[in-house]
Amino acid sequence: MPEQPRGLVVAVDGPSGSGKSTVSREVARRLGLAYLDTGAMYRAVCWWCLETGVDLQDAEAVARAARALDLRMVPDPAAPRVLVAGREVSAALRESRISTAVSAVATNPAVRAELLRRQREILAEASAPGRPGVVAEGRDITTVVAPDADVRLLLTADEGARLARRARELHGSTDAEAVERTRDEVLRRDRDDSTVSTFHVAADGVVTVDSSGMDLHQTVAAVLQLVEDSAA
Ligand code: C5P
Repeated sequence: MPEQPRGLVVAVDGPSGSGKSTVSREVARRLGLAYLDTGAMYRAVCWWCLETGVDLQDAEAVARAARALDLRMVPDPAAPRVLVAGREVSAALRESRISTAVSAVATNPAVRAELLRRQREILAEASAPGRPGVVAEGRDITTVVAPDADVRLLLTADEGARLARRARELHGSTDAEAVERTRDEVLRRDRDDSTVSTFHVAADGVVTVDSSGMDLHQTVAAVLQLVEDSAA
């Protein structure tokens, strides 16, 4: 029997508010691929530590928690879910207390090593011969997790557009006060995260998609076109 082709791997990185989660999910849904939100895995480690009283400044304890974590990612783009110890935590992971604290977890090298191992395992399974493939998004997918992905994209947007998107999402408004309240979750977090990953500038071979002047529909169309071009 001829061997079945491997599934497609689409890697998407970008800063906070670039729209990478929404765009990646929609692209996965349209192409019938799995969807992996790697940020949710860092958030899950952070949530578990807060839940069980692990001090986020204790790097060794956080690393131990990451290695022991019973974490299951359900990579369905129509309804992605995260289960920790069998409990659905997807909504809890989006809370501000997690966004504020998550960089402390993500800048821990031992946590990164553990999640890298888990992410590669999920990608290998989703793109095994006969499987359709996966869209994976985060901060280091194009550079570290899947540098040999079939399609590698950096989704960016200017600072104003990113702040406005997050302000609308978190506070339902883009007035000055809402934007100000969003700064920590976008700019400070990206500053901390960029000490361990490069996601503001595209690495060699990575295509930049700037979504500043595009709506969701246009950005998804641009990404689908790039995926199609890569197969040509
Ligand atoms: O994308 P999201 O905002 O959910 O990511 C949450 C956090 O997870 C980021 O602020 C970053 O600290 C971390 N992260 C990471 N590497 C990834 C994805 C996310 O360090 N590949």
